Amino acid sequence: MATAPVAELEAYRDEADRFIAALDEEYYLHFAGLKEDFELSPIYERFSDLTTLDACRRLAASAEIEGRGARELWRFGCEGYVGDLTRAEAEEIAGLEASLTATVDGEEIGYRLIRPSIANEPDRGRREELDRARVSLTEEHLNERYVRIAQARKSATKELGAPSYRDLYMRFGFPLEELGRQCERFLADTEDMYVRAMDALFRRRVGIPLEQAKRWDIPRLFRANEWDTGFPGEKMLPALESTLAGLGIELGGQENVHLDIESRPTKSPRAFCAPIEVPGRVMLVIQPIGGPDDWHALFHEAGHTEHYAHTSADLPVESRRLGDNAVTEGWAMLLELLVNEPAWLERRLDFARPEDFAAEASAGQLYFVRRYAAKFLYELELHGETELESMRARYVERMQDALKIEVSGVDFLADVDAGFYSSSYLRAWAFESLLRSFLREEFGSAWFTRREAGSLLRELWAEGQRPTADELLAEVTGAELELGAVADRIGETIRA
Ligand SMILES: [Zn+2]
Repeated sequence: MATAPVAELEAYRDEADRFIAALDEEYYLHFAGLKEDFELSPIYERFSDLTTLDACRRLAASAEIEGRGARELWRFGCEGYVGDLTRAEAEEIAGLEASLTATVDGEEIGYRLIRPSIANEPDRGRREELDRARVSLTEEHLNERYVRIAQARKSATKELGAPSYRDLYMRFGFPLEELGRQCERFLADTEDMYVRAMDALFRRRVGIPLEQAKRWDIPRLFRANEWDTGFPGEKMLPALESTLAGLGIELGGQENVHLDIESRPTKSPRAFCAPIEVPGRVMLVIQPIGGPDDWHALFHEAGHTEHYAHTSADLPVESRRLGDNAVTEGWAMLLELLVNEPAWLERRLDFARPEDFAAEASAGQLYFVRRYAAKFLYELELHGETELESMRARYVERMQDALKIEVSGVDFLADVDAGFYSSSYLRAWAFESLLRSFLREEFGSAWFTRREAGSLLRELWAEGQRPTADELLAEVTGAELELGAVADRIGETIRA
């Protein structure tokens, strides 16, 4: 097969860079409430040459010869190719989600508002009714489309030369099998701790033991507002600024970081980061509301922002914008989880009972990591050479085993991350746990107040995503990336 010559690969890099910049800019404008329409199609059309089957095959051949950088471009091309084939269905799903409504107790409610309503509903019977309404709308209107997306993905994968989606991602260098083994171990090792911690949390927040908990009680569990007053909206930005200042970073003085705090009617209520140019123009968009979730979201997005803003401009596009996403998610988690840290809460917020909050937050983290571990193991099966029909029951079985709460089979395709992104989150949690231990050993439990710690972070951020999370960690700490570290970190806080 013909290989793309070096000059061709160079041109591909430049075009890919412009393509991603255009997508991120459109994303920013729409979700910041500056542009009503969300017009991705013209951008995809303009750059359609980058994601043809022919382009993917040429990139595959280059990847064999040139190694990791070209392999990242190959993955980018393939994800675009699969995306093109499934986009119409995905847009239809989004349209239906925005327009479908259910009538519960004589009240009409939009599909996307059902989940938040469940969280805010104190009455269990009504929570159950709302859940049933969501399940039947999903079954009736959305699932046939999810099935078509899954089938299109399977056949596109074969055209790209791999027997399964799972096999394709292993060729991209994803350590799927090793991570699968770590997930199995993590689920077994944390089961007792999970049952004890979640039982206590359910009793305290929802007034029922874990054994009686149903899936419609989960959003309620996480909506508990007893900590809201400790996390006021007006203190979010000052706390972020002083945290970064402690690390030697002056947020207001970063010319390439654009803080969008203006309030607009259609602006996303949730913080997000849009790295339009890396490192030249990184948007951090917020509309501060307050409460722990909102604080977590802001600090998470600030982690992405600082990572991209410090990435070296000299790196090629595959190291600035592509590469191992466990790296940028790991930096995001490092800042996000500061919000649960008693040493941080005492310094940056006037906070009562920080240890109690930290213990509850760790129980919540354990729920999410177990959920992701089970979901990832399920995805490994789903994306292997299995029949789609058998997977609905598998999904329910896997999730129930991990969570001890019955989930609905209706979500067996909706609850799946494209491109094994779940593996990036899991590895990011492990990265955060090990890096935090290192920072605490090196700089003390208040490491976030030390400029030397900030200098180290800046050095590591500059590397972008050229090294994998495993390589970065080994470079700094000598440790191996292991999910077991997350169990240790959570266990310490829950017991404290
Ligand atoms: Zn993230």
